[in-house]
Amino acid sequence: MQIRRPDTLAQALEAKAADPGAMPLAGGTDLMVAINFRRARPDSVLDLMAIPELREWASDGARVRVGAGVTYTRLIRELGDLLPGLAIASRTVGSPQIRNRGTVGGNLGTASPAGDGLPPLYTAGAHVELASVRGTRRVPVARFVTGPKRTCMEPDELITAFDLAAAAGPQQFAKVGTRNAMVIAVCSVSLALWPEQRRVAACVGSAGPTPLVATEAEEFIAGALDWDGGRPVGEDVLARFGELVGACARPIDDVRGTARYRTHAVGVLARRTLRWAWEARA
Ligand SMILES: Cc1cc2nc3c(=O)[nH]c(=O)nc-3n(C[C@H](O)[C@H](O)[C@H](O)COP(=O)(O)OP(=O)(O)OC[C@H]3O[C@@H](n4cnc5c(N)ncnc54)[C@H](O)[C@@H]3O)c2cc1C
Repeated sequence: MQIRRPDTLAQALEAKAADPGAMPLAGGTDLMVAINFRRARPDSVLDLMAIPELREWASDGARVRVGAGVTYTRLIRELGDLLPGLAIASRTVGSPQIRNRGTVGGNLGTASPAGDGLPPLYTAGAHVELASVRGTRRVPVARFVTGPKRTCMEPDELITAFDLAAAAGPQQFAKVGTRNAMVIAVCSVSLALWPEQRRVAACVGSAGPTPLVATEAEEFIAGALDWDGGRPVGEDVLARFGELVGACARPIDDVRGTARYRTHAVGVLARRTLRWAWEARA
């Protein structure tokens, strides 16, 4: 196996153009597991961790651009105020060791329906930045993820960054797992309030082939909340919101949980995250 470790993004893009089959390696917390279990046998690996451009983030106050190589640990430490939903989700990923190595860029690269970094990207209108020697393009995250572990990335492209709206209101993320830590989500919900737009964004993770935006639930709750007065959300409204978020799930039965349980749990998480976020706004 050939391993290349470019020092700059330009070198990495040249290397990927010359050898499109080369597998990018960021933190390696997915890729090394795949190699160790013989699910992946790449002839060549492109180690991206020495590239400074991929480890940078910047914000103009309205949006935040995060390099694909920023680790979960850094996201939690440095971006908790600007991107609270993504930071909360990052805290649930693996263990400190995994969070020290793992990146949202890698989570996007794997595009697992259970990727905890993905739903907060949907609720904050994220775009994924893809670069090659041919140029750079930005793709909305919902178009980037095309199916379970499938993306629209071309063989010569690398994920260089993602950008998303900075929080303008409370955000939440909650996941159900079979234990408290080091666990793949049975299901998850990401929720963001955008009070100026009188909008709630909700996305379900690990209960369908890709993260799923709960459009009908979003429309219902935007009209049901007391945006001016801030009255507590009524139990009937919470129940209906949970029902509608649960209805958007397209879960399967697998070793982690049954489809019926997932639909129920998604509804519970939706009610919980909405209540937490609404109370934090008051
Ligand atoms: C013990 C353990 C616990 C875990 N717990 C969780 C969890 O709770 N939640 C969760 O979501 N995940 C979890 N994971 C999975 C993993 O940590 C995450 O998916 C992580 O985000 C992967 O990031 P990485 O930087 O390590 O990616 P890598 O393993 O380096 O790469 C992952 C994939 O993305 C591709 N890739 C990486 N960077 C780029 C790039 N810049 N451009 C193009 N393609 C790229 C790689 O080729 C590979 O296909 C866990 C893994 C382990 C081993």
